[in-house]
Amino acid sequence: YFQREFVANSAAVRVSFGPGVRHRIAEEIERLGAQRALILSTPQQEAAAQTFAAEVGALAAGVFAKATMHTPVSVTEEALTEVAATGADCIVSVGGGSTTGLGKAIAYRTDLPQIVVPTTYAGSEATPILGQTKDGLKTTLKSPEVQPEVILYDSELVTTLPVGMTVSSALNAIAHAAEGLYAQDRNPLSTALAVEGMRAFANALPAVLTDPGNLDARGETLYGAWLCGTVLGQVGMSLHHKICHTLGGSFDLPHAETHSVMLPHAIGFNAAAVPDQLAIVSEIFDGSSPGKALHDFASRIGAPTALKALGLQEADLDRAASLATKNAYWNPAPLSREGVRALLDDAYHGRQPE
Ligand code: NAD
Repeated sequence: YFQREFVANSAAVRVSFGPGVRHRIAEEIERLGAQRALILSTPQQEAAAQTFAAEVGALAAGVFAKATMHTPVSVTEEALTEVAATGADCIVSVGGGSTTGLGKAIAYRTDLPQIVVPTTYAGSEATPILGQTKDGLKTTLKSPEVQPEVILYDSELVTTLPVGMTVSSALNAIAHAAEGLYAQDRNPLSTALAVEGMRAFANALPAVLTDPGNLDARGETLYGAWLCGTVLGQVGMSLHHKICHTLGGSFDLPHAETHSVMLPHAIGFNAAAVPDQLAIVSEIFDGSSPGKALHDFASRIGAPTALKALGLQEADLDRAASLATKNAYWNPAPLSREGVRALLDDAYHGRQPE
């Protein structure tokens, strides 16, 4: 993987890792010099957020449990009112990418420091990227204020992640690493993180599925999520992320599941253009080609493999192909509307990619 020339950027993030590490939250709030944390969650995870609030006592300014998919600006505005009303001086996000997204949206507007306690493998906590929606339009920005300062990876918190969400969230993370392997702005460090992140998932996921409460295996998957998320934060993504962004933003398909279905197809599509960079994918996931290896791995772990099972209509494929190729962006294999339409057709029917 040696590259003769490269530029590498790394964010200054403090990461603590281990079963039970969430109990260090008060210490982390104080370390930031903060005294009043607004604790964020989705409505589904409000009980967890309340437990955190009870644990930190006077260091909690309140709980705001209205985080939701795609970070709608209307929810962010409501949260900002809560920040002002409670005099919060830091944010604690307890949850997956949706909750972290809300914390980032607040930080973008207030520059408040963020502590993230991830409960999925989405990896948003490791990136300076914020996606937001307003009037049905999703836009993405990259800015240093958005990057969380502190991450507490606690394997005990992912033991409650249901099996379906576990496998699709893992493939969402693997997608960051796989596309990172051929990013134009990749560097030897991002490649090393991507390879190690994929290995962690390939190694630990089977054990997690056998015993979802296995803390060592859960810990290894969280380690993979951190590495893969860090890759996403460091280098640019291509076709796979563009298609998933289109399917999520314009057709309301679920985020992690869409990544699960599309990944083998997008990687299969690009494999001939960058065989050397993607050879490691066949090795790690044990298949005769990168696309086949990922497809078989996804099938083995019970991930969704067809877009039609996620609620997309066949009649939507034309528009999806047009939207995903409307604006030019870099991709290792040349892109055409017809090529992407064919790829979407394969993913729609759940065929095995090349
Ligand atoms: P999510 O945060 O929407 O969570 C899905 C559901 O699972 C929610 O109801 C949540 O409360 C629940 N949940 C989460 N963890 C749980 C647990 N341990 N036990 C039980 N239930 C749990 O899903 P996600 O896939 O983590 O995040 C998706 C969002 O994150 C998308 O909007 C995506 O665009 C964004 N994202 C952003 C980045 C970035 O860098 N900006 C990276 C990845 C994802």
